[in-house]
Order: sequence, then structure tokens, then C-alpha cells
Amino acid sequence: MVPPKQSNTIDFDAAKLQRLASQPRQPSKRPLDLLELRQQLNLKLQASLEAERILAVFFREMQHLLPVEYLAYHHAGADLHLEFGDSAQHSADYRLTHDSEYLGELCFRRRQRFSEAELVQLESLMACLLYPLRNALLYRAAVQSALRDALTGTGNRIAMDQALTREIEVARRHLQPLSVLMLDLDHFKQINDAYGHSIGDDALRAVATAIKASLRNVDMVFRFGGEEFLVLLSNTPGGSAAQVGERLRRAVEELNLAVDGKRLPLSISLGCATLNGGESVDDLLRRADDALYSAKRDGRNRLAFAS
Ligand code: GH3
Ligand code: MG
Ligand code: MG
Repeated sequence: MVPPKQSNTIDFDAAKLQRLASQPRQPSKRPLDLLELRQQLNLKLQASLEAERILAVFFREMQHLLPVEYLAYHHAGADLHLEFGDSAQHSADYRLTHDSEYLGELCFRRRQRFSEAELVQLESLMACLLYPLRNALLYRAAVQSALRDALTGTGNRIAMDQALTREIEVARRHLQPLSVLMLDLDHFKQINDAYGHSIGDDALRAVATAIKASLRNVDMVFRFGGEEFLVLLSNTPGGSAAQVGERLRRAVEELNLAVDGKRLPLSISLGCATLNGGESVDDLLRRADDALYSAKRDGRNRLAFAS
């Protein structure tokens, strides 16, 4: 059964007007509760720049006035998909905007249908989310762009160092295998020399896109150098990492990048290394790099294992 839906677009500016207009018509105890809760929310929601934390606090605090069983927040552009509580039959959905800036979608659910008066309260509470949520989205975008390589959209070296430190710690703590693939475009200098730097950039982007499309966790691909990438594979032993590497090699080989109507053949070589007990990050990367160079020596467009 499709659950009954109460769906709205919230333009925060319009919502504020609506809220101000509706308050004088409810002069008794309820609006006071609403006011107190709004004051409390304004204080508590300011305390964080993390969308997850802001919405968790909002979900918890709103229960004082308006019990709901479930809250979901989605913002595809920011790659945010959050859920709190347990889903229920009746829903009220809001698309949040401010000055035509999109701020995501909220879905509230509960067993009882929302009354009109409750929706007015709900919208009033949501107005408290405007600035905290907007700041959180700006902060998230700034952090993401600081950790991404602008040309290829893969993680940059800062992101790579953070991820390696974190994942190695997790691997050690849970006694899980961890593997890396170091990969490098073959004869890339020839592409730049023959077609120019801009076509070289197109080729780099195409390879990065093909690699990301072939992986489950795209956040684990990093631009290691000019035309070198590192793929970090958590909880993956060497044999499985080699299979992933082979999939990436084929994906690049099968790319159809045309220059002047002619297909530009592209290939990568890969070095695969699995973390040894007690090994440092530098030693792991050096072994993967050595393996990459043996793949180059053996003819390129292939994968080699680290010793
Ligand atoms: P090999 O198969 O041995 O890896 O040969 P190669 O030509 O790929 O290796 P080499 O290290 O000699 O060349 C790498 C080239 O990558 C040289 C450099 O100009 C180019 N390069 C590095 N970063 C970029 C970039 O951001 N854009 C473009 N277009 N080229 C880049
Ligand atoms: Mg190269
Ligand atoms: Mg290179």
C-alpha cells in the first residue's frame, strides 16, 4: 500500500511569513511551548557544523512538542542520506529551499496522521533548521573540495593520507586484510606530446571516471601523482585485490575516447600490495610502487604483485 503523503515545498522565507501570521491566532499555552522549543532549538542547533548532528538533535528535541517516529533527510548533491527512528505509515514531506538555494528534502513519519495545526508547528520548528543546515552544507562542501582533486574528482593526497591512516588502524584492530593498488597510465607523455595537454587532461578524467565506475567505494580512489592513482581496498586480501585490479585494467582498456574521430587507445599498469603485520604506510606504498614498476618492465597494461 502506498502510504498517505502530505507533501510540501518549504521556502524558508515564505515559511517565516506564514509562521508569523499564524501565531496570533493561537494565543494559549501551545504557542508558548512552541516558542520555548524554538528558542531551545536555536541554541542547540548552532552548536554543530555537522548535518548528521544537527538533524539528530532536531529529531530528539522536536519530540517534546510533536512526537514523530521517523525523520529522513536527503541531499543528493551533498551525498547526504540520513535516517533517524523507525519508519511509520503517515508522512509529511518537505523540500527545503532558501533564496532559491536547494537545502535538501525532509520526510517525517509517524503512525498517526498529521493534523493541520501540527503541520503549522512542524513548519515553524523547521525554520530553526535554516541557518544551521545551510552552514553545515557549506562546511561540508568546503571540506569535500579541500579533499578532492579538481581535475579528476578523486581524493587528493590529504584525503589519501587520512584514509590510509584510518583504514590501516581499522585493519589492525579487526585483524582484517588491507590491500592497495597503485596504478599509472602507460605512455601518457606520448599522448600529451601528440595531442596536447588538454587532450591529456581529458584522458586523465576519462580514466578516473572509468576507475570510479568500476569500484564499489569511489571514496577510496586517490590521485597519487600526475597520472598515478592509488586505490585503497579495505578488508580485501591480495587475491581479491588482484581481481579488482584486473577489472580496472580492462575498464581502461575498453574506454572509447575519440580524438579527431579516431579512438585513442589507453591502458594502465598496476602494482598490488597487501599490508604486512606491523608495516608502515610508507613501506606499503613503496612495495606497491616497486610492483608497479615491475608491471611496466614486463610490458605494461598488466598487474604485478608486490613481493
Ligand atoms: P610510463 O608508461 O612509463 O608510465 O610512461 P609515461 O609516459 O606515462 O610516464 P612519464 O612519467 O614519463 O610521464 C608522465 C606524464 O604525465 C608526464 C606529465 O607531463 C604528464 N602529466 C602529469 N600530470 C598531468 C596532468 O595533470 N595533465 C596532463 N595532461 N598531463 C600530466
Ligand atoms: Mg605513466
Ligand atoms: Mg607516472
